[in-house]
Amino acid sequence: MHRIDLHTHSHCSDGSLSPQALVEAAHAAGVTLLALTDHDSVAGNAAAAQRAAELGMGFWPGVELSVHWPRPAGPGAAAPGGRAVVIHVVGLQVQAHPVLEALLCRQQQARGRRGQQICARLQQRLGADPWPEVLAAAQQQPEAVSRTHIAQWLHRQGHVRSVQQAFDRWLGTGKPAHVQPDWCTLAEGIAAIRQAGGRAVLAHPTRYGLSATHTRLLVAAFAGAGGDALELPDLQVPVASRDMVARLCVQHGLQASVGSDFHGPHLHWRRLGQVPPLPAGLQLLGH
Ligand code: AMP
Ligand code: MN
Ligand code: MN
Ligand code: MN
Repeated sequence: MHRIDLHTHSHCSDGSLSPQALVEAAHAAGVTLLALTDHDSVAGNAAAAQRAAELGMGFWPGVELSVHWPRPAGPGAAAPGGRAVVIHVVGLQVQAHPVLEALLCRQQQARGRRGQQICARLQQRLGADPWPEVLAAAQQQPEAVSRTHIAQWLHRQGHVRSVQQAFDRWLGTGKPAHVQPDWCTLAEGIAAIRQAGGRAVLAHPTRYGLSATHTRLLVAAFAGAGGDALELPDLQVPVASRDMVARLCVQHGLQASVGSDFHGPHLHWRRLGQVPPLPAGLQLLGH
């Protein structure tokens, strides 16, 4: 039996384990093929690959890019569309390439700037400056700062009852400390992954708060820009939405990918190697 997990995070982005510890945990969980897909970073791939080789476990270097998709006005929409939505594109089997490196450099600078801007807003409203502790949680790398680190600070300080509430009250779109980040476009992200020899996967297609119509438009745009696969939603997602994703794979000639989106043992509902089964008629990416 193969256990495949093609979407995971380490402390090089907003995961809690080091790349080596992540590989060890995946191996212990019976995973036979793992991909590390940190947000806008490939920093952990070399260490993870080395540990996986020592353990005899399959490993793909990866990344999860944050990109902008300019949501079009859907058919029948009352208001014009236009506002860009942040979409996540997983790149798998990526190699070192100047185009991807340049794009990651830009994304990381945008991350560092945005993290400081969010912390400045929180300091204005709450008094204390989260930045030093947020930076420490991100391994002292401003370019690795995620809203997750800031949400965890808000929770530790008792400003919110949960990390989820930190997003709902402060960090989510339209909330007081939301800063619109300067991400690349969907097409730029896919092109950079493909130029680096990788395959592009539309991460968690049902988790963007989009209508079914807009999800279909997003998948069409993703396929049209050279995307390779859709990530299958987990079994908590309603069956109608999971069926829609499977149908969209067939309709656009896309493969399927599976991943837990593991961030660490603290998010106990996302376990390493816990991925949905492949529906009949779909092809698993790279297999
Ligand atoms: P960023 O890429 O810095 O904008 O941070 C996005 C990350 O925050 C995602 O990868 C999730 O891990 C986490 N996240 C986003 N929304 C929520 C939420 N509502 N509750 C908890 N975590 C979230
Ligand atoms: Mn994350
Ligand atoms: Mn994601
Ligand atoms: Mn992820």
